[in-house]
Amino acid sequence: MDSLLELHPHDWPQRFVALGGKPFHGRIAARWVFRRAARSWQEMTDLPEALRERLEQEQALGAATLEELSRAEDGAVKVLLGLHDGATVEAVGMPGTQGRTICLSTQVGCPVKCQFCASGLDGLQRNLTRGEILEQALWLRREQGEIGRVVIMGMGEAGHNLDEVLPALDVLMDEEGMGLSARRITLSTVGPKGALERIAAWGRSVSLALSVHAAQDELRHELVPGVRKRRLEDTLDEADRLFAANGREYTVEYVLLEGVNDQPQQAEALARRLRGRRCHVNLIPFNPVSELNFRRPALGVQEEFRKRLREAGLSVTLRRSLGRETDAACGQLRRRSMPSSGSSVTEV
Ligand code: SAH
Repeated sequence: MDSLLELHPHDWPQRFVALGGKPFHGRIAARWVFRRAARSWQEMTDLPEALRERLEQEQALGAATLEELSRAEDGAVKVLLGLHDGATVEAVGMPGTQGRTICLSTQVGCPVKCQFCASGLDGLQRNLTRGEILEQALWLRREQGEIGRVVIMGMGEAGHNLDEVLPALDVLMDEEGMGLSARRITLSTVGPKGALERIAAWGRSVSLALSVHAAQDELRHELVPGVRKRRLEDTLDEADRLFAANGREYTVEYVLLEGVNDQPQQAEALARRLRGRRCHVNLIPFNPVSELNFRRPALGVQEEFRKRLREAGLSVTLRRSLGRETDAACGQLRRRSMPSSGSSVTEV
């Protein structure tokens, strides 16, 4: 039974007619699902009982089951969802300045294999469908309430799955969906070939976060093998064109790795590379992954790196680690819950 979430809510009325209801029943159901956090057809008491019965039999509301739910002391909520084929995916919600921020995954595993990231350790299993991406948001909405911001920064490379990611974002932004403004959505990507152009052509003003991690191609290709064939300069030019198209400054993400990309001359090189571009730099101190040998630079080194960028005229933030819990949102989502990782999900 296909999940109704694979269909845009605009198409729900037609589906409801096929199930013996009226078009407006589809609109009522969409409000229940996207605005009122309903979990089942039975809750939708203003739908005729016969229709609810038929929906129960013939139309799945979602395709995922909530396998685990955990709440950390810092307020982060994590859901582990089981998918129809036995794959699992995680999503996290955390308190932020504009209400709760949720972090969604776009793939099971990841093909990009960033050397410091846990998501790609086992390669890519498969793309998530639009319904599976939306379902993460819905489960978090159900478990933690209103959503303030959405960041596409969980497991997977969104740029390799835009066929599903963009329609999912359309629903999050649609008035008949979750009604979130584009300004509240950030999509993070390494910028695979064609991805940024496609986002520009799509025409919605979501924010872009571009994972850069090194100013020179040689090092970037080593750290982010999935973009070995791409010149950073070309990727940044595409990000500039996206800015020209949607007017949103982009964020350059740079994970600080001790002795790898944290040296003063590397800050200078990054500053040269970004000069004149409409971006903001977000420095992310490496968050340890047990299987990986990278280390987080000392605080003084992080500060020095930031200072150099700032003195070169760039706008920079250095992410303060809010502890392991919150950082679990970045690339380390599902792995710890997998049997091979040997630890339990309830720790977040
Ligand atoms: N595939 C997307 C989303 C990744 S998660 C992308 O690459 O942009 C969001 C950010 O967290 C990315 O910049 C990613 O490189 C970074 N990240 C991944 N693993 C990390 C780790 N162990 N410590 C700190 N940041 C990490």
